[in-house]
Amino acid sequence: MNIFSFTAHFDKEETCRLHFKSERDRVGIKCRRCGHDKHYGIKSRWSYECKSCRSRISLRSGTIMQSSKLSFITWYKAMFLMTITKKGFSSKEIQRQLGFLFGPWFTSCVRLWGIGMISILWKV
Ligand SMILES: [Zn+2]
Repeated sequence: MNIFSFTAHFDKEETCRLHFKSERDRVGIKCRRCGHDKHYGIKSRWSYECKSCRSRISLRSGTIMQSSKLSFITWYKAMFLMTITKKGFSSKEIQRQLGFLFGPWFTSCVRLWGIGMISILWKV
């Protein structure tokens, strides 16, 4: 995937959320409270409800984005920039391209997540 196909495909927040949700659904979700692995999807709230205990979890819960207030599209863009080349972009360059400051935690998360997600993005 190059930058043109990436921006054409992941052009909106909802597109990124839907892609993330489909990958999360494919991997499966396990309830933190009871361990059940069947959930109802609550699209209006971007969350899941356990079919056994009715406990709710958000789409981000249990992922590296759990504590982040950044949008999905920001995560996707950062991950793409960090994995587009073998060496990736530096943190400073990512900050300049995305137009905001972030800490080393974000950089590490995106880099690690990008390694796992890159094979998925390349298939799009
Ligand atoms: Zn449960």
